[in-house]
Amino acid sequence: MTHFMRMIPSKKLPASILGLSTALFLSACTPNSTAEATAKSNLGSKSQAKNVILFIGDGMGISTITAARIFDGQSQGKKGEEHQLAFETFENVALVKTYNTNTQVPDSAGTATAIMSGYKTNIGTINVPPALLDARSADSCNPEALPPTLTQRAQNAGKAVGILSTARITHATPAAMYSHSPSRDLEADKDIKGVFSNCTSIAQQMVDSEAEVIMGGGFKEFTAGQIETLKTDFIYVGNKTEMAAAQNGKLRGLFNRSHMSYEADRTETDEPSLAEMTSVAIDRLSNNKEGYVLMVEAGRVDHAHHGTNAFRALTDMQALNEAVKVAKAKAGDDTLIMVTADHSHVFTMAGYPVRGNPILGLAKGFNPETRQIEAIKDKDGKPYTTLGYHNGPNVREADSPVLTDNMVQAKDFRQQTAVNLGSETHAGEDVALYATGPGAENVRGVMEQNKIYNIMAKAMGWEE
Ligand SMILES: [Zn+2]
Repeated sequence: MTHFMRMIPSKKLPASILGLSTALFLSACTPNSTAEATAKSNLGSKSQAKNVILFIGDGMGISTITAARIFDGQSQGKKGEEHQLAFETFENVALVKTYNTNTQVPDSAGTATAIMSGYKTNIGTINVPPALLDARSADSCNPEALPPTLTQRAQNAGKAVGILSTARITHATPAAMYSHSPSRDLEADKDIKGVFSNCTSIAQQMVDSEAEVIMGGGFKEFTAGQIETLKTDFIYVGNKTEMAAAQNGKLRGLFNRSHMSYEADRTETDEPSLAEMTSVAIDRLSNNKEGYVLMVEAGRVDHAHHGTNAFRALTDMQALNEAVKVAKAKAGDDTLIMVTADHSHVFTMAGYPVRGNPILGLAKGFNPETRQIEAIKDKDGKPYTTLGYHNGPNVREADSPVLTDNMVQAKDFRQQTAVNLGSETHAGEDVALYATGPGAENVRGVMEQNKIYNIMAKAMGWEE
């Protein structure tokens, strides 16, 4: 899906906006190897997390969570509204402000930087401070000159790192776990040109990564030589069967040419589920006696929303929920588990449907004249769905067919939208953060997104 930020050249941004980001950057923590060394000797302390598992539902706004909760409950024969997703039982919850330094409505690159590096940055940017972008500094392509990420600090502290996504592994969110890039679009070597000719592609940075486990989609972003290196230097797997049979060693998995399939389309024998990937990753990472940091992204909730296809967004949410259940079952009490979104989508749930109404269905209410539960009609006398989008590719025209339950509950149905855009957009309201385990007590109130980094760092004993 096309992202709007590709149309915004970062060098045209006003300096006043960049000033804000610089302040945030300066307030972020700096690495402290002494603290990391002390943390090592404190493993086992009750207040400290040996491991951190961070789940990111890409585009998982609060309306998405509510709809997924009902959808999952209804899949189990319940009315749905009373149901709870696995992470909704976590005792600590906060609201998170997601804006990028130069946009009210953010993208995944700027938000992933806030989470993985502890400072906010411009839309479209991965782990590079906005001041360097503004100055067009050559250092924006020099990882050695950039603030270290959570991954780098974890590795310095002897922890193993795992990175999982159902999106291309070079896509913004997983890329923020192992790369620095002034543009999220520098995925492959072929993208390195012009003002970015001194940069290293995200794919090459993935090949160079020391992480214990990296799995997702997107082998088309790698050259034949890079794939060869992955096969010779790592345990490389290309499908679910190979993943299950993989030998010990650093594991690399690329399961699709581009993004992995939506959960609703996944062929059982080809691609592992997010839960299966999570299980394999936790088993391997748990062998490291100093602990681990694992990031698990449900990357395609976002893509389904961009196409106003609520069915696939909600079925990918179920896949995320199953992965969280695996983490809860496998991780010990010394593990901080957090579930959040990078940003929201313009996805709404509306129209006074009756309790237990199918969440993907037509909005139906009680008609006192007929004493029947019937589809509620709009001012043109046409039924509409409970779920809809503020903008996107499916604006209803005067001659659009009258919606029926069969049409709207089909897996390819695209919900109606108000503003006519080729691709539905992200939304700018706060997202939720759910947490359990050591350090989870700091997840409360309304926070800036970069605070998530500090919560993880503090939980691992790296800073006060
Ligand atoms: Zn998106």
